[in-house]
Amino acid sequence: MPDPNGFLRYDRRLPARRPVPVRISDWREVYPPAGEELIREQATRCMDCGIPFCHDGCPLGNRIPDWNDLVRTGNWDAAVDSLHATNNFPEFTGRLCPAPCEAACVLGLGGQQPVTIKQVEVEIADAAVARDGLRPRPASVSTGRSVAVVGSGPAGLAAAQQLARAGHTVTVYERDDAIGGLLRYGIPDFKLEKQHIDKRLAQLTAEGVRFRTGVEVGVDVTAEQLRAEHDAVLLACGALQGRDTPETPGRALRGVHQAMAHLVAANRVVAAAGDGKPVPATLPDGTPIDAAGKHVVIIGGGDTAADCLGVAHRQGAAGVHQLDLYPEPPAERDAARDPWPTWPWVLRNYPAHEEGGERVFAVAVQEFVNDGTGQVRAVRIAEVTVEKVDGRRIVTALPGSEREIPADLVLLAIGFEGTEEQPLLAQFGVTRNGRGAIDSGPDWQATDGVFVAGDMHRGASLIVWAIAEGRAAAAAIHTYLGGVGDLPAPVDPARQPLAAR
Ligand SMILES: Cc1cc2nc3c(=O)[nH]c(=O)nc-3n(C[C@H](O)[C@H](O)[C@H](O)COP(=O)(O)OP(=O)(O)OC[C@H]3O[C@@H](n4cnc5c(N)ncnc54)[C@H](O)[C@@H]3O)c2cc1C
Ligand code: SF4
Repeated sequence: MPDPNGFLRYDRRLPARRPVPVRISDWREVYPPAGEELIREQATRCMDCGIPFCHDGCPLGNRIPDWNDLVRTGNWDAAVDSLHATNNFPEFTGRLCPAPCEAACVLGLGGQQPVTIKQVEVEIADAAVARDGLRPRPASVSTGRSVAVVGSGPAGLAAAQQLARAGHTVTVYERDDAIGGLLRYGIPDFKLEKQHIDKRLAQLTAEGVRFRTGVEVGVDVTAEQLRAEHDAVLLACGALQGRDTPETPGRALRGVHQAMAHLVAANRVVAAAGDGKPVPATLPDGTPIDAAGKHVVIIGGGDTAADCLGVAHRQGAAGVHQLDLYPEPPAERDAARDPWPTWPWVLRNYPAHEEGGERVFAVAVQEFVNDGTGQVRAVRIAEVTVEKVDGRRIVTALPGSEREIPADLVLLAIGFEGTEEQPLLAQFGVTRNGRGAIDSGPDWQATDGVFVAGDMHRGASLIVWAIAEGRAAAAAIHTYLGGVGDLPAPVDPARQPLAAR
């Protein structure tokens, strides 16, 4: 029986982050382990409210009150089993999820701080590794059916694990040189050290999943070959088409790049150093891209922008500005706009923001300014207002508000326009919709025997949604292949986050 008064006895507490001067001198994760005492105390704050809205906040339907109580009572093995029953990769979500479950925690109804659900999750996930090293759970019987998974991000990997455990033969095709999708070279090590991916891959391999890296489906292997070799195909190619701003004067200057170019180059340097093969940070064509000693301007306000900020400081930037088109959000939930238990529009301070840099809200870049040699030397910005008219965004610059910010390196982190246009799409006979995503039927099929999941289906989203869609698509594929019984399907293709509007 959970403690109904725990939240009255204990305040919400998170472990202290590593000190800024220490952590920006390396690439290790920002958070140290919380320790058993703190985590059991925080799990005690969950009162098992009876109607746990956190379940609906979490796309995976994680059984949060169950494992909170198991942690409270020190029942770690059962907590591990309970968490793994709904989430293939809690070590990823526990570190990286923005935790919509916490926004939906019933404690928020009475003005209390939510339970630190995400922190409890990561501690259980790490306990699983410490206790039995992620013991493989291979299928006892093979179905003789074979599935190709294209793309090795969290959606593809979750589907691969579910299908392999159900007895199907699964091959994951990845065009990059390493498995993991955005978790591998998109998200920096200070948010997710890559050892966590490698440990999980060892488990998948032991469960029979085959990995083929450096293979671009549609180019190195055709859709026809894949269809001939496998009984079903899952497309989980992400939504990696970066939004650009070609109309802004000076966009073609040297030093103006997509944010992902910077992140991938930086993360490859860290990976190579870990392998004892140091390389400089460069674009694929060998052009150096590094923030060391530079004035950096990051355009955008989301995860990608915050990751660029953390990378810039670790590389030794001279100064960083982060520009946001929208006004500064409120610090607290505006209940009239975003009532509990929906995801609120509030100012999100990532650990990268306490490491330095200046955030500038309600501004838009008018020009990337040339230094006379074809290299950017500044961005000219104006204060703006943004309105929605008939669903369209209208940005209006305030006259006389223009000014320059010095810039040697400008990073565009202004979002993604869906999955990339690439040969694979036409070969499989699928087309991008108006949002650049691939539609599916209610059974996740985009076309006969070809399924789609993750960001490629939903548009750029979150890891928790990618895992949820990967699990649900795997369940649909299992049924399509005539598998025995049902696999869990936490979401259907039309499911949306909790929202008031
Ligand atoms: C910089 C950044 C930071 C982020 N931070 C967070 C965060 O902190 N928390 C969070 O929840 N979410 C975060 N996200 C979002 C999250 O990473 C994605 O929602 C998630 O990775 C989507 O998973 P996916 O499996 O659908 O696709 P992806 O992870 O994008 O993987 C798709 C894979 O498909 C491969 N591929 C594409 N085409 C082919 C082909 N033809 N043949 C073979 N392989 C192919 C790609 O190389 C890639 O590896 C972040 C995103 C970015 C860009
Ligand atoms: S995966 Fe995300 S939403 Fe689900 S319980 Fe974990 S932190 Fe909450």
